[in-house]
Amino acid sequence: MVKILVVDDDALMLHLMRRQLMIIGFDSIHCINDPNVALKILELSPAGIDLIICDLKMPGVDGIEFIRVLVKIKYKGKLILVSGEDRRLLMLANKLALAHDLNIIGALIKPVTPEQLKNVISNGKVKGDALEHRKRVYKSSELKHAIEHGEIEVYYQPQVSLKTGKVTGIEALARWAHPEDGLVYPDQFIRLAEDSELIGSLTSSLIDQVLTHMEWWIEHGLEMNVSVNISMNSLVSIDYPDIIAAKAFEKNIPLSSLVLEVTESCLMHNDPKQMDIFARLKIKGFGLSIDDFGTGYSTLEKLRDIPFSEMKIDKGFVLGACEDPSLAAIVKSNVALAHELGMSVVAEGIETEADWNFAAGSGCNIAQGYFISPPIPVNDVMFWVEKWKQRMSNLLDRDCL
Ligand code: C2E
Ligand code: CA
Ligand code: CA
Repeated sequence: MVKILVVDDDALMLHLMRRQLMIIGFDSIHCINDPNVALKILELSPAGIDLIICDLKMPGVDGIEFIRVLVKIKYKGKLILVSGEDRRLLMLANKLALAHDLNIIGALIKPVTPEQLKNVISNGKVKGDALEHRKRVYKSSELKHAIEHGEIEVYYQPQVSLKTGKVTGIEALARWAHPEDGLVYPDQFIRLAEDSELIGSLTSSLIDQVLTHMEWWIEHGLEMNVSVNISMNSLVSIDYPDIIAAKAFEKNIPLSSLVLEVTESCLMHNDPKQMDIFARLKIKGFGLSIDDFGTGYSTLEKLRDIPFSEMKIDKGFVLGACEDPSLAAIVKSNVALAHELGMSVVAEGIETEADWNFAAGSGCNIAQGYFISPPIPVNDVMFWVEKWKQRMSNLLDRDCL
């Protein structure tokens, strides 16, 4: 049974939250209006609570202090933050909780609807299950074995045009089909791969799978770009562009349909070897995408130095931008910058129709996110494309596109 602790100084809010949680189907709910009492309960038994729903602004102990104590007592359950007014403060608290590796599954503005709560809890449940496994720290020898035995698989997340709704591409995301732990997510093994020099063989195995899938899709009339995440550590070899190009050539795959995504924060400043590799990837015709744009440093210099064809605006800026003028301003100015530099823009983290409308209205070109589709196994891609065509015509009818 899931044990939930709701902390809010407002008795009415506690009452409402209890009712909503009961409607969703939970019945072990402790509602406490004094954060100090809540912290005492948690200190005595941090493992006794599975989910905390906490108001950010409370007299005595505010939400930020509450987060600090959760870190101190090593709280391992899930957390949802709610706030009555300040969205920016809520986002800041969300980031703080993430930075402390707390298992935060949602940050919601009051009044919270039962649908919102249900969505956050059910999405968080999927993630939460992954996070349970995350607690298991894998050894590099286990990952090496997994790569060599084909346990690293590709999931695909579709990308669609915000203007026409057409499928333009798909992003390849690594998953570890672990024989005992089930599906393990990349945040549990990519860093390990990078640190243990396994990232080269992991990326290489992914690219082999991607090219095989692309060959099959092309044969069956489905032509779209495929984006692959590339760690900078795997770009160290100067003949990297030639190795991928040769593999694609073997399968008759046009290089322009392969988009290599690199994360902005991993790019080094003025590194001649890196610039050489990027220049040759570009000359060969690969698409180059700057991922998680806005989260790294000296962003503008990198845009100037590297010939990117695409900018992916990080979901941290897109999520909630439709209701937050400061996030909206950041997205719009990045779009203007990208377009000025001749790059197309992918908005990540499109979770709702409102996010979609915002991204379209802000001039983004392509949308990616749960509203369109979560990452799916390769065998579901063709089926999804057919279903999307149907959904797209419904959206067109409703004037969403
Ligand atoms: P990313 O490249 O930014 O990938 C997008 C991540 O956001 C994916 O998480 C995806 O499942 C998630 N996502 C997609 N739509 C939404 C949405 O609407 N809302 C929210 N909240 N999240 C959404 P995933 O698959 O867990 O990947 C996490 C990160 O791991 C990726 O972030 C990427 O940086 C890295 N990664 C994944 N596969 C590879 C790989 O093959 N090589 C390397 N080097 N890194 C990889
Ligand atoms: Ca990516
Ligand atoms: Ca990204």
